[in-house]
Amino acid sequence: MKLCFASNNEHKLTEIRQLVGNQYEVLSLKDIGCVEELPEEQDTLEGNSYQKAEYVWRNFRVSCFADDTGLEVKALDGAPGVYSARYAGPARNNRSNMELLLKNLEGKSDRSAQFRTSITLILNGQVEQFDGIVTGKITEAPAGDKGFGYDPIFTPEGHEQTFAQMSSEAKNRISHRGRAMEQLVNYLKSQKF
Ligand code: IMP
Repeated sequence: MKLCFASNNEHKLTEIRQLVGNQYEVLSLKDIGCVEELPEEQDTLEGNSYQKAEYVWRNFRVSCFADDTGLEVKALDGAPGVYSARYAGPARNNRSNMELLLKNLEGKSDRSAQFRTSITLILNGQVEQFDGIVTGKITEAPAGDKGFGYDPIFTPEGHEQTFAQMSSEAKNRISHRGRAMEQLVNYLKSQKF
């Protein structure tokens, strides 16, 4: 069965293809002829993952899923959250985002935070949502050069290293996206066609 992942991120596509196995053929947006930017205008992660998946289902009639991720910092009332990519402005610059976050946390003793991923699946018109969370702490300064986004300043609970100091395999095993994907894959594997 064909299933579109509403993304053109090759890294995410490879990962999900390995996880899903051969029951589903996972297509990219390009594969289904969707070349426009998907709408992402909601103020929650769930709203955005739904908006992207619904756009693909409505316009292309292909079963699909979409994800949206944010970093939620307790002492900042959940910011940057759904605005993680654009925290320091529309340029979506990872370094500026991290610098602003560290500045906003100066003098705060509670540095707890979590990454959260929402996935919306629309399978033959039926909507399902999955949520993956990893809790941890924001470091005082960046460490490590692997990964992307806020990885250099996030240490997952029970670990000493930041995500940017871990191998991608080690990160994927415990990450927000890994956990949400696992739920999605379990659901897909439980479906009979
Ligand atoms: P997206 O929903 O996957 O596009 O993620 C939105 C933003 O959240 C990205 O631009 C990154 O700043 C941040 N982000 C998402 N996933 C991760 C991650 O695994 N590590 C660090 N930052 C992430």
